[in-house]
Amino acid sequence: MTRYSAPIIHQCPACAGYFKRHALTSMHFHADVPDWSDGKNGQWWASASGSVGRCPVCSTSVWIEDAVEVMHLPRHTPTMVGLDRLWHRMTGDRNGRLREVLEWEALPAALRNAESLRWLSEADDFIAVLTEAPQRLRERELHLRVRLWWALNDRLRHDGGGTPSASQSLMQRSIARPNMLRILELIEGSPKAQVTRGELLRQLGRFGEAVAVLKAVVPDGRSEVRAVRIERLASARIAALQPL
Ligand SMILES: [Zn+2]
Repeated sequence: MTRYSAPIIHQCPACAGYFKRHALTSMHFHADVPDWSDGKNGQWWASASGSVGRCPVCSTSVWIEDAVEVMHLPRHTPTMVGLDRLWHRMTGDRNGRLREVLEWEALPAALRNAESLRWLSEADDFIAVLTEAPQRLRERELHLRVRLWWALNDRLRHDGGGTPSASQSLMQRSIARPNMLRILELIEGSPKAQVTRGELLRQLGRFGEAVAVLKAVVPDGRSEVRAVRIERLASARIAALQPL
């Protein structure tokens, strides 16, 4: 079963306002979700968390690791009516329920009412963050660009893969292609990214290079299976996104 934590409150480094998020604590993989050649995790919960989002107070993009964790809130808001309060007070509040309610009520409203961090999910979201705040850290730029690649591919995913339409082709030339080339630069020399490299080269139509890269993938129990499938597509000179 997929589960989330109770709300975790963070402070935005840009405006010092508060936002909440729920961390994924366990994940269930649904078997009917296709495994796409670009490696996107298509499980519903994959887009409901992440490393970067927008602050609900000031709309600035925020990396979770930059935002100080303030506290964990209770999963359910503790409440108690007047008569119950009286009874708990008289009987010594042995189970601590009244104390929980009073602690909750003593919290500043900005903490209690903090809104959720807005996760990035659409291609426009990733383009905006990359444009507004050029990422000084290589791994952050890579994170945003891989998600942009997946988000652009989502248009094809919804159509079941295959050939892009005219507007998709324009998007492909002006945004998707430069983005894929930049990802190739960013993963240069990374042995773990060989399957991704092969898939990018295939989608870019560089089939010979794709085959060579995929043939050289070091087996680790999973990568080689993906590599063989993608290599088959590259050998058949198929550049489109495909379910594997
Ligand atoms: Zn903020």
